[in-house]
Amino acid sequence: MNDRTENDKTPRVVWITGASSGIGAALAHEFSARNDLLVLSARRVDRLEALAAELDGDVFVLPLDLTDFESHAVAVKTVLDRFGRIDILVHNAGISQRSLVVDTELSVVRRLVDVDLIGSISLTQAALPTMIEAGGGRFVVVSSLVGLFGTPKRSAYSAAKHGLHGYFESLRAELYGRGIRVTMVCPGFVRTEITYHALTGDGSEQGTLDRAQAEGMKPEECARRVVKAIDAGRAQVLIGGREVAMAWIARLAPWLYRRLIRRVAVT
Ligand code: NDP
Repeated sequence: MNDRTENDKTPRVVWITGASSGIGAALAHEFSARNDLLVLSARRVDRLEALAAELDGDVFVLPLDLTDFESHAVAVKTVLDRFGRIDILVHNAGISQRSLVVDTELSVVRRLVDVDLIGSISLTQAALPTMIEAGGGRFVVVSSLVGLFGTPKRSAYSAAKHGLHGYFESLRAELYGRGIRVTMVCPGFVRTEITYHALTGDGSEQGTLDRAQAEGMKPEECARRVVKAIDAGRAQVLIGGREVAMAWIARLAPWLYRRLIRRVAVT
């Protein structure tokens, strides 16, 4: 079982994608403080090694490109050779979007879907057999509030994040009896590098920090809430400030959401 009280310090093997910055790096600190064994993955290995040096305990740096699907089976085997099991796989890596539908090239849509949806599905399919064989495990899926409703300038990002909900709700239903659990995480605005790397319509990075993120929650606070939700065995958690209200409006009064979302500031 992965779910536990704060006093339970039994180490879990936790694999975090997108650990080289932002929420992923903050999650690494949070799990490390709880005595867990960590696998840190992303493309920027220098960042991962610098983070590993800051953390106590057993930390394994495993370079990974989510879009290099063929490498995922080998990555899983490498983790199993090192730790023997995967208790929690945190699908956190992602890139965002800042472009209108009419300005966005199809190649950019595909890139967003590959990183934000297919990459996590591919890694899940590679890791799932060993987790089932071990009697269970938890997928923690960092989606977004935009995984629950659409906003302007995020069409492909929102499509990919919605896709994560469809995939992992199906997986949850199919594998409940075999000990596989899922926590969907839907953050609002968090102060990370996400807007610098967000893709514009031609695929170039935006390169600037949006005001909403600059004024958003600190990644450390977001990570604290994520780990609390995992320990409580939550199926889904919404994390953010006032922007979380839109998720409830979209669910309870969709007509109102459709009016509001045309006008709200999303950057
Ligand atoms: P950051 O930009 O700080 O972190 C993104 C991480 O994803 C980096 O570690 C990056 O590592 C990794 N990544 C990007 N592309 C790839 C790839 N092809 N293969 C492997 N890793 C990749 O942003 P956040 O910390 O904010 O984002 C974390 C998650 O939170 C994302 O899924 C994002 O969508 C979600 N989120 C963030 C919100 C926010 O306001 N910040 C709001 C809602 C959701 P590297 O470049 O080294 O590969």
